[in-house]
Formats: sequence, C-alpha cells, structure tokens
Amino acid sequence: MSGKPKVPSYFPTGVGLLHDPSLNKGTAFTEEERDALKLRGLLPPHVHTMEEQVMRVMGNFRRTPTPLEQHVNILGCQARNETLFYRVVIDHLEEVMPIIYTPTVGEACQKYGHIFMRPRGLFISAKDRKRIANVLRGWPHRDVHVIVVTDGERILGLGDLGADGMGIPVGKLALYTACGGVHPTHCLPVTLDVGTENEELLSDPLYIGLKQRRLRGAEYDEFIDEFIGAVQEVFPDALIQFEDFGNQNAFRLLQKYRDRVCTFNDDIQGTGAVVVAGLFAAPLITGGSLVDQTFLFLGAGEAGIGIGDMIVGAMRDEGLSEDEARSRCWFVDSHGLVVKSRQDLAAHKIPYAHDHPPADNFLGAVEAVRPTGIIGVSGQPATFTRAVLEAMARINERPIVFALSNPTSKSECTAEQAYQWTEGRAVFASGSPFDPVILGAQKFVPGQGNNAYIFPGVGLGVVVSGARLVTDEMFSAAAKALADQVSAEDLKVGRLYPRLSHIRDVSAHIGAAVATIAWKRDLATVPRPADVLEYVKSEMYQPDYKSYV
Ligand code: NAD
Repeated sequence: MSGKPKVPSYFPTGVGLLHDPSLNKGTAFTEEERDALKLRGLLPPHVHTMEEQVMRVMGNFRRTPTPLEQHVNILGCQARNETLFYRVVIDHLEEVMPIIYTPTVGEACQKYGHIFMRPRGLFISAKDRKRIANVLRGWPHRDVHVIVVTDGERILGLGDLGADGMGIPVGKLALYTACGGVHPTHCLPVTLDVGTENEELLSDPLYIGLKQRRLRGAEYDEFIDEFIGAVQEVFPDALIQFEDFGNQNAFRLLQKYRDRVCTFNDDIQGTGAVVVAGLFAAPLITGGSLVDQTFLFLGAGEAGIGIGDMIVGAMRDEGLSEDEARSRCWFVDSHGLVVKSRQDLAAHKIPYAHDHPPADNFLGAVEAVRPTGIIGVSGQPATFTRAVLEAMARINERPIVFALSNPTSKSECTAEQAYQWTEGRAVFASGSPFDPVILGAQKFVPGQGNNAYIFPGVGLGVVVSGARLVTDEMFSAAAKALADQVSAEDLKVGRLYPRLSHIRDVSAHIGAAVATIAWKRDLATVPRPADVLEYVKSEMYQPDYKSYV
C-alpha cells in the first residue's frame, strides 16, 4: 500500500539518524527525541516547527539566482530530509514543480556530471550483466512499488544523454510522491547505463556513465530482459514505468512486456492520456465534440503515435469505426506528410499512412489536410511559424494548437505567438509551462499538458489495487477522470487542465478510476473497498513528522 510502508527493522540514532533522509527531521526533532535518540549537541538547541523549516527552505530557494541552482538547492533538501522536501513541494507545487521537473530537469540532465554531488537512485550498467538482481538487492528499501527506468537515449527533446538521464527518473518519482501520494520509500529511480552515442559526453572527463557505445541488438534485449526478470524476483510488487527510451526500443519493449509484466511507457501512453484529456476539454470551448475534429501532428514518434492511438480509442468509444477515427489523425515527420506512397515508414507510422499526395513541409500539410487542431511533438522549436498559425486561424474559428515539445526551448511556438498570430482565437496548451498572456483586454492562461497530471494517479491506482497489468482502458479512464476535473472557471481563461495546485485531488480521482478498472477486469490483487475514492485518498502519503518516542 502506498501510505503505509513497513517499519524499518533497524532504527538509527545520532549522526546516522540525521543522515537518513527518510527519517531525519533536522531541527524539528523534539526535546524527548533528542534525548532518546542520542541527538543532544548534534543539533542547534532551538526546536523548530515544520512550518518554520518550510519558511527557511523556501527563503533559500527564492534567494537562489538561477533555475538550475534552485534545482540543486531543492534536491539538497530531498537528500537531507525527505518529509520536509515533500511538504515544501506539495505546499508550493506551482513554484517548485518546474524546477524539480520540466523544464529545469532538462538542463540538469545536460549538466548532470558537472553538478553531480551524490548519487540518487540505482545505476545499473552493462558491466552488471548476470548480477542485476544483486544490484537491486543493494537498494536500502525492500518494499518497492514503483520503478521509473530510463536508458537515457531520448531525454525529453534533448537526445541521448546516457547515464546523465538519471535526473528524469528521480524527478518523475518525486512527482509520484508529491502529486500522487505514493510513499517515497516505495519509489525506486533506475538508470540502465548501456553506453551512449553522445560524442560530447564520451569525451567529457566529468561524464558519470560508461564511456562506450550503446549496446544494441540481441545484447541490448538480453540486458533489458535480465533487468525485468530481476525486478520480478527482487521487487515482485513493482510497477515498471519506462521513460525516455529511444523510440526504436520504446514501442518494441512496450509490445513485448505489456501483457505479462506490470508496466507502461509514459512517453507513449501517459502522453496519450494527458493530451486526450485536453482534447476532451477543448471542444467545450471550440464547440462540437472530439469526433468532429481532425488533427495534424508534427512529429510521429512515441508521443505522437501514443496520442494518435489514444484519440482513435476515444473516437471509437464515441461511435466511429477504426478507419474513420484514423482518417481524422494525420502525421508529418522529418520527411514530410505520412502517406501510403512513402517507402521509408517505420512500423508504428503505417496505420496512419493515408492515401494522399505527399506534402514535404508542415505549412503545405496544413493547407492540404485543413485540420481543426495541430499537435507539436517533434522536439523542433519554432516550427509552428506565423504562416502556420495564420493558416490555422483562417481555416478555423477556434483553432486547437498544442505545442508539446519539451523543454521550453524546444516548444513549437510560444503561448504568446499562438495567441497573437491567431488574433487570440487559439485554444492553446503546451508541454512546458508558459506565463499568462495579455492581449488587448483579454488575459489567457495557457494550460500545460503535463504528463504529471496522469502518471502519478495511474501509478497510485495500480499500487492501491495491486493491479497485475496496466491496460489502455486504464489510461482512457484516467483521461476521462482528468477532463472531468476541468472547471468552468478554467475554461473561461482558456485553460484545458485543472490548476496544478489541485493535482493531489485530481490524482486521487484518476487513481480511483484506474483501480476501478483493475477490479472490474479482475486484474487487482487487493480486495475491493466499499468506497474506492475514499480508500484511495486514505492510502495517499502525507508528509507529516511522526513521533519516534
Ligand atoms: P521521438 O524521438 O519518439 O519522436 C520525434 C518525432 O519528431 C519523430 O517522428 C521525428 O521524425 C519527428 N521530427 C524530428 N524533426 C522533425 C522535423 N523537423 N519536422 C517534422 N518532424 C520531425 O520523441 P517523442 O517521445 O515523441 O517526443 C517528442 C517531443 O514531445 C519531445 O520534445 C518531448 O519532450 C515532447 N513530449 C511532450 C509531452 C508532454 O508535453 N506531455 C509528453 C511526451 C513528449
């Protein structure tokens, strides 16, 4: 269960206790605890409340000049006192989340070896073949329920960052706890270091990973297989979330394991669900419904195809045939419009190849397809140009524009450009956060189609029900639950997602929706409670100090 970790069999005292982040309370240890736990003299005499400690952490955080330094600063708090860290993150989520996750985590990964102070999570390298289970046994917590794993090949839109990609599993699991209430000791970040093709890293003396080319082919597959088997042996209750794998591996591995291991790929399925939730909400502003839309994607990778597949599923649920639904989803990749006559298409693009003349640039494709919405998942900045956005505004009264590439520097357009170049008519969402935009007398608050709305709730639902598998139906239920949380007030300012400050409540609803599917489909291993939502809420971790005496 997420809220109730097992009591550790060994309880440290003295300096050992102060250096244990999952137990440390710092200056908040009470007089009685200081006596009983050999802390006298090791702490300054004044006993602080948690509120006072939060004040100190946020004061330091706000005085820190750059986002990257803030990232290092706040992760320092996580390394010292986890309970305090989660109190800070939960109470200041809108301010802190862009620092612990996108966009700042991207910069942190790019400079990981240079800002590295102490390890976090498990690094499992190609040198660990034939002993991965032993490496997993070295993790200090036995009761692991969620593993986020990357091989660092496609970190956000930043490419191959090898072992420096560890910032992503660490950041995502912090959000599992902060947003989804999964207990921190139930979370395990893992980086599989199978080498890197990044020349800069290979020649950087401060790079933290193996200085070798990536494992490929059978060697790579055997390594992943050993890892999956080892997790099942050592942490049999763990959900495995694949994160930021290159797309040639991501689709294959998902297909290979999804029906026999409790696993999902957030870049494919989590993205699909969060975007579809936004697309359920968009017609509440533009009019019509999801089935009336035609979407043109820029980018046909994990995110694009994941979203396409979820849209097709949602349109089928609303009565369209598979073919009709697919005919409403079009893709442009780096070689142009995805059409039947092309000979160079990877398998995951073929179901979306339409019988249509080619178009070799995005503007041409917009003019040919005349979509109601464009969805940017290419990792290529400034590709929703003025001409593209003006064309969308000419074709549609209220064009849907989702510029989802992360981090901010890779976004297909900015929020300001989207509103300005469509005369304020765009219904806009982005992958990384943008500030509100004022245009004339109107204020627009762009929604962030952040996967953090979905994966913590999905994980929570899987953990509390003890689900054996993660299914597409669970992601559809998650998307619907998220869209249901968008208020009239959100829609009034053009925001297609609930405020981030409501995210724990949103995650509880998603968790309940996902767990309900687990019980309905006989995938759960925990008995069904009478009130699923109340049960899910009661299982969520709260960062409060417990008394140790
Ligand atoms: P990917 O590498 O699997 O796919 C990228 C796709 O973009 C490929 O199909 C590639 O052919 C295409 N592409 C590259 N250059 C192009 C160009 N000039 N014109 C047209 N297409 C081009 O990556 P992915 O996992 O699909 O992620 C893509 C982007 O989406 C990343 O920036 C990522 O951060 C972002 N993303 C955002 C969210 C979110 O906001 N919720 C979630 C997942 C991914």
